[in-house]
Amino acid sequence: CGVFGIYATDGKCDVANLTYLGLHALQHRGQESAGICVNDDGKLRVHKDMGLVTNIFNEDILTDLTGEITIGHVRYSTTGSSLLTNAQPLLVNSSKGDLSLAHNGNLVNSAEIRHNLESQGSIFHSTLDTEVIAHLVARSFKDDVIEAITHSLQQIKGAFSLVAMTEESLIAARDPYGFRPLSLGRKGDTYIIASETCAFDIIGAEFIRDIEPGEMIVINEDGIESLHYTERKPHTFCVFEFIYFARPDSNIGGQNVHLARREMGKQLAREMDVDADLVIPVPSSGIPSALGFSEESGIPYQQGILRNKYVGRTFIQPTQEIRDLKVRLKLNPIKEIIKDKKVILIDDSIVRGTTSKQIIRRVRSIGAKEVHMAISSPPVAYPCYYGMDTSRRKELIAAQKDIEGICQHIGADSLHYLSQEGLLDSINTNGYGFCTACFDGEYQIEIGTDKFALEK
Ligand code: 5GP
Ligand code: SF4
Ligand code: MG
Repeated sequence: CGVFGIYATDGKCDVANLTYLGLHALQHRGQESAGICVNDDGKLRVHKDMGLVTNIFNEDILTDLTGEITIGHVRYSTTGSSLLTNAQPLLVNSSKGDLSLAHNGNLVNSAEIRHNLESQGSIFHSTLDTEVIAHLVARSFKDDVIEAITHSLQQIKGAFSLVAMTEESLIAARDPYGFRPLSLGRKGDTYIIASETCAFDIIGAEFIRDIEPGEMIVINEDGIESLHYTERKPHTFCVFEFIYFARPDSNIGGQNVHLARREMGKQLAREMDVDADLVIPVPSSGIPSALGFSEESGIPYQQGILRNKYVGRTFIQPTQEIRDLKVRLKLNPIKEIIKDKKVILIDDSIVRGTTSKQIIRRVRSIGAKEVHMAISSPPVAYPCYYGMDTSRRKELIAAQKDIEGICQHIGADSLHYLSQEGLLDSINTNGYGFCTACFDGEYQIEIGTDKFALEK
């Protein structure tokens, strides 16, 4: 998911339009639903729906969403089904006043908290982790809403980067491990919060800094305040954000994402020893690393596979049949480039193996002489419990087969993965620590009794 928030200190500016643009820049983080909640003189209103940002909002709707503070969300479901009741931001009316919340990540103790709250009479409307947080705030014994939010954040466990809005304040918070990105920016006197810095660029805002793990920022009439609501844990930033999820034009921890991916490609070339005529990316996610691979190896880069831009992300489709069909619709290899050539195809990751298997079959069918597959990350062998839909364990091909077995399954002449050290060496952040659990199974936060986690 992607989150966004604005606090306009100079009274009403076009906050809904700016939020719309910000969410548009974060669309890659979720395409299922989107929403904007505005605060107009303490009165909160939300507009949300299923689908893409451009389909949900139009000029009339945005003109109607007047206010000084907003939060926005784009959703990609990892927990909770893809339904309108699960669209965010969530807006609740509690004894502490109106409160709106939007969240990126996944809590590992939400089932437990939900169970406790339900046994005390709470009624849930959605299956969202976000609603668990809202209930905790509403039921907190702290009267002050900021204190109640702080108190709630201390009870939840897992990955979260969230934005919240009360009748007076815009709030942003990151879990103590810092799994998901969250940054603070400014446009004149207006403060902006966004999952990724690419959202600042689109609205002409300047980046101030990343919000720290375990930090909560409160922006209201009194200005901007930073609180550390809990003890900081070892930094565990999701390395998959750098591999695949974040937009290449974003910067995280001072590292540009595109440049990190290009470096992963260079490192992969150093770790491999294959002779080939061409390096070809599986678009779009394989492009930066294929560029780096070509630079380092001296093997020419060619855009030998065309991507149909009008097919969305294939990965999220519900059945294998539809995923296969969509990959076919989405990726088309160019015979005139590939025929009779020894090619290295580069992609960022293999999860179920759908993309690699399909594309290798097609590249062979148009006459490639040899097809070598090179992946700019290690094998994904463990599921993610922290907000990325890297699938269930039984669907992960690297949990079922060794590299030789995967190579056979996808039909490549050879298969190469970037080493974990090589991956981490490619990313130049200032003292960040990383979560690498989907590669090595080293989970920083125990999943406990979470039902969703156990199903994986
Ligand atoms: P596979 O086809 O092997 O199941 O998945 C690998 C492909 O899906 C790669 O091209 C990669 O770019 C993309 N991918 C990897 N992880 C994710 C994810 O969490 N979500 C989405 N939408 N795509 C992913
Ligand atoms: Fe990211 Fe993988 Fe860790 Fe999930 S398990 S947070 S995808 S690195
Ligand atoms: Mg891809």
